[in-house]
Amino acid sequence: MKNILFIVSALFVACNSSQKTVGEQTSVAQTEVIADPQAFAVTITEKELKEHLYIYASNEFEGRETGKPGQKKAVDYLKTNYEAMEIPPAKEDGSYLQKVPLEFPKVPMGSIMAGETEYELGTDFLTFAPSAGNFDEIIYVGYGIEDKGYSDYQGLDVSGKLILIKSGEPVNEDGTYVISGSSKQSVWSSRSDAPGARLQLARSKGAKGVLYYDPDNYDRYKKYFDYLKESDKSKLEIKVEEENAALVLLSDNMIKNIFPAIKETQTSGSIPQSMSLRIKSNNEPVSSENVVAVIRGFEKPDEFVVISSHLDHIGINKNGDINNGADDDGSGTVAMLEIAEAFKQAADTGNRPKRSIVFLHVTGEEKGLLGSKYYTDNDPIFPLSQTVANLNIDMIGRIDPKHEGNRNYVYLIGSDKLSAELHELSEEINSKYSQLELDYTY
Ligand SMILES: [Zn+2]
Repeated sequence: MKNILFIVSALFVACNSSQKTVGEQTSVAQTEVIADPQAFAVTITEKELKEHLYIYASNEFEGRETGKPGQKKAVDYLKTNYEAMEIPPAKEDGSYLQKVPLEFPKVPMGSIMAGETEYELGTDFLTFAPSAGNFDEIIYVGYGIEDKGYSDYQGLDVSGKLILIKSGEPVNEDGTYVISGSSKQSVWSSRSDAPGARLQLARSKGAKGVLYYDPDNYDRYKKYFDYLKESDKSKLEIKVEEENAALVLLSDNMIKNIFPAIKETQTSGSIPQSMSLRIKSNNEPVSSENVVAVIRGFEKPDEFVVISSHLDHIGINKNGDINNGADDDGSGTVAMLEIAEAFKQAADTGNRPKRSIVFLHVTGEEKGLLGSKYYTDNDPIFPLSQTVANLNIDMIGRIDPKHEGNRNYVYLIGSDKLSAELHELSEEINSKYSQLELDYTY
């Protein structure tokens, strides 16, 4: 339990330097009048943590796997508790829930019509995202690359068009590469990076469809395509917007019919071939949510300290056993509820924190930090530029063999990595209030 006291103590000093009431202005330099954090930290009790955890990690919550009914119960439990504590939701629309749209990627469905000939996905061509559109010509753009002093797009307007590009890069008569001017290949020949780089460039030029001939990579993509088609274990991802053009890899067979001279042709131009792309997404949507509440700061309400933990766990295994996840991360989750309660009590008695405190319960951690990624990359509810710190809590409920018999420790990770001040502060507050053993092993 002391592990948690430590965090609370640190935050009180980090965030609260005054007991003034809201609205009071002062021109005097801030004096360090610090509320006694212990007065609020004592509201965090083993009994209350246990009560929360015995519900949160109970079988009823079915291991809280992302997108599953058990996780919906977990989300609801957190929301209900913040409501009961009267800690406001973070979102402007008054909801505690930040919807995090996820999906299981599946191979798409559909075909390509070239004139009267129908080409089949998985046999004649490969793609992993939807593509649609009717085109009365194909614009051939050679290698489809652009680098210092060289561009296949020069003089071409491909906006809204269907383009055809190929792998490789231009070579001088003496055998050196045009882009490097030496015998060294550029990134445009990189087997793994070149396709994505080409697609990105084509999108930036406004192309609506991208046909790609890359015989060296085709087999590799085919293997992945077949795996994805057969597998029911595709990895959950954040839902991608489908507005952008996708890369369509053409087989030898298909390119022979459409543009047999591709290998030896360098000159860009129009290929008089009508084509219709009819490829639809087959991805399986999964709904999930982050739960986010906030206590507004007094002195710097537009600066934010985020306290986070993950609300999900790994669910039910093949044999039907429930992984309850009491430690991972039920412990961090219920600690946050108790910390939030302590801050709320402090705020209600005139000890509002200096900065705003954001209580961020993230989803999809076990699936690859998806809820965190969504918050930072897609929808930071509070600007990241105004977010001064994120203190994350994970697995503080169990004693590891190294610390057998000692409850009075916590692993502290990264405290001095981005900010030396944070490290000094936590050391100082720890020695003043909690006297925990801070283990920096990790
Ligand atoms: Zn965890």
